[in-house]
Amino acid sequence: MSFSNLGLSAPLASAMERQFAAPTPVQAASLPAALAGRDVLVCAQTGSGKTAAFALAVLQRWVAESSSAGRNPQTLVLVPTRELAVQVGGVLSGLARDAGLGVKVSVVFGGVSINPQMMALRGGTDIVIATTGRLLDLVERNAVRLDQIRCLVLDEADRMLDLGFAEELDRIDALLPERHQSLLFSATFGPAVRSLAEARLRDPESITL
Ligand code: AMP
Repeated sequence: MSFSNLGLSAPLASAMERQFAAPTPVQAASLPAALAGRDVLVCAQTGSGKTAAFALAVLQRWVAESSSAGRNPQTLVLVPTRELAVQVGGVLSGLARDAGLGVKVSVVFGGVSINPQMMALRGGTDIVIATTGRLLDLVERNAVRLDQIRCLVLDEADRMLDLGFAEELDRIDALLPERHQSLLFSATFGPAVRSLAEARLRDPESITL
């Protein structure tokens, strides 16, 4: 298996090939379904290459659809912590830069001043990486709207639920268009994650590694 026969566009495949010898099992298993627009449920540990897996999926979608992009984001990545938001933002922006894509990526999280984040979002963005509470604050302040979201990524879904973010996830879900692609990643698959997946995913491709 190589990056170029996973269905990635040439710039994204080459950006990965410059860094890595081959896709990881998570990337090889999840990308074909994700790139076909299906919902995907991935049960995999940190270190499996899952961040690059969803980064590639959302960047490929951006390549295919960027001509229709407006001021509001088309992709939303929700994460449990500020540290993970920064880390995911770094991977996504790095990959976009290596592939020469002019995609606008914004990272927002709580515990810091909201004003710079409001200004960044109001300037227009394509992909938002966010913790749930701060994202809801930003929506309430009209810094961003979520009604153009076409792809939602839930990263470390088990940790989000463990940290008590289920209600915030529901509030965010209510702001999204009814039809959107969902990619859910979790290291564990207990009853709470299972019921989240059942409620949110449509006929998902399930991958356990
Ligand atoms: P994760 O926390 O699951 O996103 O895994 C991240 C680690 O996997 C990082 O150190 C990446 O550089 C590395 N990684 C991502 N894709 C690959 C790949 N195809 N081959 C080898 N390492 C990779």
